[in-house]
Amino acid sequence: MYDQGEQQGPAAPEHHVVLAERGPFIAPRCSCGWSGPARRSRPLARAEAAAHIAHPG
Ligand SMILES: [Zn+2]
Repeated sequence: MYDQGEQQGPAAPEHHVVLAERGPFIAPRCSCGWSGPARRSRPLARAEAAAHIAHPG
């Protein structure tokens, strides 16, 4: 189950992050293979996804 509504990054076509929902948890996952830790807070998961896009390394 993927939330496709958060993929409008500014300019990072190689990093396509979606928020994967698993029960009460939400984890950002990127097309580059990166995935963030599961969070209960959607804004937090979104912020970590944005941080990954801003600083992929
Ligand atoms: Zn990425």
